[in-house]
Amino acid sequence: DFDVSQPWLTRVIERRPRQILRAVDGVGFSIARGETFALVGESGSGKSTVARMVVGLLPPSGGDVRITGVSMTDPRQAAERRRLRRRIQMIFQDPYASMNPRWRVGRIIAEPIRAFNLLQGEAAILARVGELLTLVGLHPDDRVKYPHEFSGGQRQRVAIARALASEAEFLVGDEPTSALDVSVQAQILNLMRDLQGRLGLTYLFISHNLAVVRHMATRVGVMYLGRVVEIGTSHALFRAPRHPYTRMLLDAVPDIGMTGRTRTPVSGEIPNPIDPPSGCTFHPRCPFANERCRAEVPGLIDGVACHAVQEGRLD
Ligand code: SF4
Ligand code: MG
Repeated sequence: DFDVSQPWLTRVIERRPRQILRAVDGVGFSIARGETFALVGESGSGKSTVARMVVGLLPPSGGDVRITGVSMTDPRQAAERRRLRRRIQMIFQDPYASMNPRWRVGRIIAEPIRAFNLLQGEAAILARVGELLTLVGLHPDDRVKYPHEFSGGQRQRVAIARALASEAEFLVGDEPTSALDVSVQAQILNLMRDLQGRLGLTYLFISHNLAVVRHMATRVGVMYLGRVVEIGTSHALFRAPRHPYTRMLLDAVPDIGMTGRTRTPVSGEIPNPIDPPSGCTFHPRCPFANERCRAEVPGLIDGVACHAVQEGRLD
């Protein structure tokens, strides 16, 4: 059974020269098998930090990440963690950066099959590589090409094939289509959805693009300055956003925002996470902020972290 069903709490402190940045604080969510959970927010909101923690690239300095009950931090579970590793793969915005430019694509895709000893014999590996290329909409003969011979969209297909080569069940995509043209972006998103249906994959999708998130996600977490400020089903969140920041994000996108309520104007910039505002960190940008907001951090209650929502002050 593969699910990220344990809610978890994490705190990541990134140490930089002369600075301590609490990139993520008290983020808790769970992802069920077969679903697409999206984290959305502006750059600097901590989305990528969460993604890197989930795949084990970055250890949380507090709290834990649990995947199918296996802790990503507990030293006593190192062996289980190693077994889990190949089942969790990350898809990056720029797949080229993670490919050896001097390797043919066939070798790139075969590498995890060899590394994890999943198949014996060159003929079996070759057949599997052809199968994977076909699965992602490329041709088996494409294995002889080099990464630079492909377009950006095709390279992302290769990256997906390589992730599937390790028999991944949980894919974490950090802005996997952000660098692509809109039409190519749609093709890759549709491929990912198609593969999810066929292979029962689970996705954690990191994006700043609300249209992409609405297209892909079953559930969404909205992040602001390292915290989840709203969490809910994609359907509910896009139909009736509750947190003022979520409303602001949605209202900024034509075709998505506004459902009869008062428009929340977009204003201000995301503050410096090194020196975050007091209380609710969104208060300098929030039209509904009051004294309590400036003093007290709102807890995530019933899927939303906002005093005004909890006090019934919002429409
Ligand atoms: Fe705005 Fe206050 Fe809600 Fe923060 S807690 S989003 S400042 S109303
Ligand atoms: Mg990022």
